[in-house]
Amino acid sequence: SKKALIVGAGIAGIAAAIRLAVKGYSVEVYEANNYPGGKLNQFEQDGYRFDAGPSLFTMPQYVDELFELAGKKPSDYFGYQKLDPVCKYFYEDGTHLNAYADAGKFGNEIQTQTGELAIAVKRYLENSSRIYSITNHVFLERSLHLLKTYLRWDTFKSILRFGKIDAFRSMHNANQSFFKDKRVVQFFDRYATYNGSNPYAAPATLNVIPHLEQHFGAYFPEGGMHSITSALVRLAGSLGVKFHYNSPVAEIVLREKKVKGIRTNAGIIGGDLVISNMDIWFTYNKLLSTYPKFHPQKILSQERSSSALIFYWGIRHQFKELDLHNIFFSADYEAEFDHIWRQKDIYHDPTIYLNISSKYKSDDAPEGCENWFVMINVPANAGQDWDALIVDARKNILNKLSRLLGKDISPLTANENILDPRSIESRTSSYQGSLYGTSSNSQFAAFLRHANKSSKVKGLYFCGGSVHPGGGIPLCLLSAKIVSSLVD
Ligand code: FAD
Repeated sequence: SKKALIVGAGIAGIAAAIRLAVKGYSVEVYEANNYPGGKLNQFEQDGYRFDAGPSLFTMPQYVDELFELAGKKPSDYFGYQKLDPVCKYFYEDGTHLNAYADAGKFGNEIQTQTGELAIAVKRYLENSSRIYSITNHVFLERSLHLLKTYLRWDTFKSILRFGKIDAFRSMHNANQSFFKDKRVVQFFDRYATYNGSNPYAAPATLNVIPHLEQHFGAYFPEGGMHSITSALVRLAGSLGVKFHYNSPVAEIVLREKKVKGIRTNAGIIGGDLVISNMDIWFTYNKLLSTYPKFHPQKILSQERSSSALIFYWGIRHQFKELDLHNIFFSADYEAEFDHIWRQKDIYHDPTIYLNISSKYKSDDAPEGCENWFVMINVPANAGQDWDALIVDARKNILNKLSRLLGKDISPLTANENILDPRSIESRTSSYQGSLYGTSSNSQFAAFLRHANKSSKVKGLYFCGGSVHPGGGIPLCLLSAKIVSSLVD
């Protein structure tokens, strides 16, 4: 059988391995770390378990699909439960909002808490759903870069409806046209951060994201987020995929314009095709550094998505008013994004995302305690003085949470770990520590993501959050699906 070599065991690399194994390839995955999953990793400290990266699980059907493809029953490997409410929101003015899973109930909640009419929320979500029905086939589910994509009738229709996908104004401007209440505008603006973008710049097309969350739902995997990785690695193993850990790939070996294999610390390994799950910037600049003529300069110089600063705190207390997902909004969202995107530092009043998996999985923390994942959005790494920025941010976050929860948090913290743009970059080779590859701050971003197949080198493919269709678990899984549809 033909041999496929995969660089990186991130979620997209694992999914690509499964798909190619099902197609009959012999598949080997080379991973730099001594564990699989890349950003989708976990760690433990003093009886607390923490998911290190992603915490929000949407579109679980793309995970299930991989088991079904292999002729297995998803629930034998992997279970998850639907969230309701999806998330709790806390505003500086004292407003609390529950984002209920049911759209009608959620509309009523908005009306009760803010005065904005439920019917306005309904209209908004209908618009969001419309954008989804137009964009889904074109932008997400297949290669944008093949001529044949454009020749399909449904694709062609979608392009003709380009005006209808609201690409020519910002998310924020669109949201202001739907809602009078600033809190509701802020609520919907936040969805820009789901792919590391800026709602004041990103096209209103991204207002499709609330539809994905509302319509398809948000979920919690029974074993925590990391069980997505472990279940898929088990599935891949059962299909004969071989994983090599502690095996950084140093080079993709070419002969003229064709892939020959890869070079690792064990020497050169030959293969019929190579799929890079490494960030596209590093794939070219490290693995193909001797072939500058193949580097797509325009794509590689694009603006990156934002990064994150995360404090993992073991907390010796339980907060009844908190849920799995909680947001503590900044009083001035525009100023916060101005700091992230223009000043490239951290605003003194950041929006705080607090995730507590022990709310759903009680053994994630000792009895009477909670495992806090406290994250703020920060700029991509451009050599800022992160140590100084982190000291300030830590203080501001503790003050804000203590004030809004009416309890001094600092004395409750049993332990602390920190992840910042530098460590995100070094642990998973994500250029500038960006979470989602390139940003979507322009209406053309979707067209400027790197394709899933090289147009210059035969046998070379790409998957993962830095290439088409984009970052986040669902899109990474789709990138693997597209790769699989492109190989013979
Ligand atoms: P990555 O996870 O980036 O992994 C790439 C792998 O390749 C790594 O294991 C790396 O070691 C390996 N590798 C790189 N170079 C080499 C080499 N030369 N040789 C061998 N191996 C190599 N998404 C969501 O859907 N929901 C969320 O709530 C969410 N929150 C997030 C929060 C944080 C803090 C972070 C960091 C990300 C979050 N994301 C979220 C984004 C999501 O984690 C990513 O989009 C996704 O996991 C990226 O997967 P990937 O396949 O591109 O690979």
